[in-house]
Amino acid sequence: MRLHSLQSRVVTLFIVLILAVQLAGFFAIRNAIDSNARAAIREELKISEKIFGHLLEQNKQKLTEGARVLASEFAFREAIATNDTETIVSALDNLGNRFGASFSMLLRLDRTTAASTNNSLTDNTASALLPLFVQAEQSDNGSASSTAIVEGHPYQLVMISVKAPVRIAWVVMAIPIDQKIVADMRELSAMQVSLLTSKSDGNWKPGVSTLNREQVEQLAQIVPRISDKSQLIADLKIGDEDYSARVLKLAQNAELMTVAVLQISVSEAIAPYKKLQRNLLILTVLGVFIASVISVLTTKRITGPMRQLADTAKRLGAGDYTAAITVKRNDEIGDLAQTFATMRDGIANREKEIRRLAYWDTLTNLPNRALFVSMLQDAIKQAQAKEQACFVLMMDLDRFKHVNDVMGHSFGDQLLKQVALRLSNELGQGATKPARLGGDEFAVLLPNSSLKEAQELATRILQSLEKPISIEDQTVDLGAGIGIAGFPDNANDAESLLSRAEVAMYAAKHANSGAVTYMPEIDKTSQQSLSLLSELRTALEQENFRLYVQPKVALDSGKVIAVEALIRWIHPERGFIYPDQFIPFAEQTGFIRQLTRWVLNEAARVCSSWIADGHQLKMSVNLSTRDLMDQDLPNKFADILERHHITPAAFCLEITESAIMDDPVRAQNTLERLHAMGTDLSIDDFGTGYSSLAYLKSLPVDELKIDKSFVLKMEQDIDDTKIVKSTIDLGHNMGLRVVAEGVENKEVMSLLKEMGCDQAQGYYISKPMPSDQFLTWLHIWESAQS
Ligand code: C2E
Ligand code: CA
Ligand code: CA
Repeated sequence: MRLHSLQSRVVTLFIVLILAVQLAGFFAIRNAIDSNARAAIREELKISEKIFGHLLEQNKQKLTEGARVLASEFAFREAIATNDTETIVSALDNLGNRFGASFSMLLRLDRTTAASTNNSLTDNTASALLPLFVQAEQSDNGSASSTAIVEGHPYQLVMISVKAPVRIAWVVMAIPIDQKIVADMRELSAMQVSLLTSKSDGNWKPGVSTLNREQVEQLAQIVPRISDKSQLIADLKIGDEDYSARVLKLAQNAELMTVAVLQISVSEAIAPYKKLQRNLLILTVLGVFIASVISVLTTKRITGPMRQLADTAKRLGAGDYTAAITVKRNDEIGDLAQTFATMRDGIANREKEIRRLAYWDTLTNLPNRALFVSMLQDAIKQAQAKEQACFVLMMDLDRFKHVNDVMGHSFGDQLLKQVALRLSNELGQGATKPARLGGDEFAVLLPNSSLKEAQELATRILQSLEKPISIEDQTVDLGAGIGIAGFPDNANDAESLLSRAEVAMYAAKHANSGAVTYMPEIDKTSQQSLSLLSELRTALEQENFRLYVQPKVALDSGKVIAVEALIRWIHPERGFIYPDQFIPFAEQTGFIRQLTRWVLNEAARVCSSWIADGHQLKMSVNLSTRDLMDQDLPNKFADILERHHITPAAFCLEITESAIMDDPVRAQNTLERLHAMGTDLSIDDFGTGYSSLAYLKSLPVDELKIDKSFVLKMEQDIDDTKIVKSTIDLGHNMGLRVVAEGVENKEVMSLLKEMGCDQAQGYYISKPMPSDQFLTWLHIWESAQS
């Protein structure tokens, strides 16, 4: 029990309260008992004083009776008359003995002693008798009584006149106040009784007493001289005992005084109350004990559940929501516990939801990247400990962006769900876990596995994706690229293992080869690619691209009627870079779209400046596969033309056969939209692809460009000549314009003209030149023609 705990406070409060009440009661009762006891003692002392008085009175009566009997005896009176001392003494002695007198005397009327049973009495006795004479002479019946000190001892004296019939003498009888009365007194009143007589030095001389010698001597030391008949002494300490006492004056003469001390022990008087007090004390202790126990139990009933709830709260704070709340009561604490349980469940649910949102992909219900990384970390740790290997597959869907663009995002979402489902089905319930890293990127973790297993799984996944996916009556063919990387061969931590798998995945996609296992060489090329991509971006920003143009000549008139726009990269360090070195890469990475936009814009600008100078030349621009996939291209193109105030008819767009064949449906769609705008379309590098004539016929093209590989050496190669000739005829038959590129000499130029080819382009006419030099060149060309 802690000192400042609620429990200890309540218990302390209880005990202090009980103690205070009990102590107050205890002292009140003790005081009452004390004053009661003292009042009772005083009362008892008064009563005992009366009893003592009665005893004296009894003695006096007896003596008086004895004296009377003696005085009335005829023989006694005769003996007095005859002065028969012997008879007198014998009568005094007889009667005195009978009535308990210690001595008796006969006194003459002149107050002298006629006879006495005690011959040792001195004159001193006579003076003690004096007051008796006075009293008796004045009384009606001629008798008197008193207490007096005779020969230093207290006595009760009685005096009676002897009449015959007139007074002839006095009889005195004396009885000592001594052991007998003290003993009687003790018997009747439970008092200690002591007789003290004063000495000549003023101190008390102890007489008979019910106390022992030592006590009575102590008593003699402390009892004060009294002036009244009797006096109360409330506190008298003898030895260890407390007494209350009453001092009664018994007799006094000129020198001496005798007193009786009646004393009662206070402690004895209080003894019965003491027992009561002890019982009260026991009750108090018992009460405190019971109160403590009850308060401990009561507070335990309150603080116990509270402590339990506090513990639970602590565990909740530490994120443990399993703590059971077992407090089941119908009071406020029960309510609190109930509320607590509700709160715990609420927090647990919310945390579960937060975890789900933080670690689970809401679309596919697969772990997200964060969770996958932590699972991968665990798997690596475990593999490390057990010297095993673990693998990661990373998969990116082909053409997903395209599907998303064309079919809409909700369709894309459905597709991703289907892919997740297939992935999960393929993996089953084992330790191998799928995850969605984001977009159309998925990953699979194979803890404790081999490369062979990983590669087999990749193959199975790819096979499962081969089957077309149908959603909302639409069927989609999905391919994917998978990269494989493993611990410990490829990386030692989760993040680098993932990035290795990613590198392998990109390699797989570029090579269109399904699954690729990571090798350091891939990383090198991919590193280079990455830096190349960023260089391309910088080049665009810093305007390091130049637009070159190469003229096209109409073979019948010899006039320059068109140009082909060709891009060049003037690298600040590497210098002049030909498009072959960066166009394929730009196509792979999709950067080509930005390049094409730049070329279109630049070409339009140049074109409009020439128009302003009075030169109407058709501008040919090359498009790549990726451009054809861009649904937005026609719009962008239209914007550019509009900005430069050029009609679409001023442009011809060159597309290679292979670019069209990558995705014929989409390509056709784009081409149709472009053609509808009024722009010419040309099939570039014609003859190198494998497209069927029937298919080509369905395309909205205007021009065929015979690939330069057939033209370059056609004057020497009869086969090439035949191919060029038949291509020209074919084109014409299909109603198309035919252009030959790669014309490097006069012979070829003449041959083409003979064959009826429409236009020629090549070094023989001009190499590609910076666009701003074209007009100068054109002037020279035109003046050379005329
Ligand atoms: P292409 O579309 O077939 O372009 C014609 C290529 O043939 C040009 O090479 C041109 O310089 C070259 N050529 C023209 N006449 C002769 C000749 O008499 N003899 C020889 N040997 N070659 C000749 P260039 O400029 O190096 O372009 C190479 C390829 O790069 C182009 O082939 C084209 O596919 C691509 N390219 C160039 N510029 C662009 C562009 O702006 N956009 C796109 N998408 N591709 C471009
Ligand atoms: Ca071209
Ligand atoms: Ca070409």
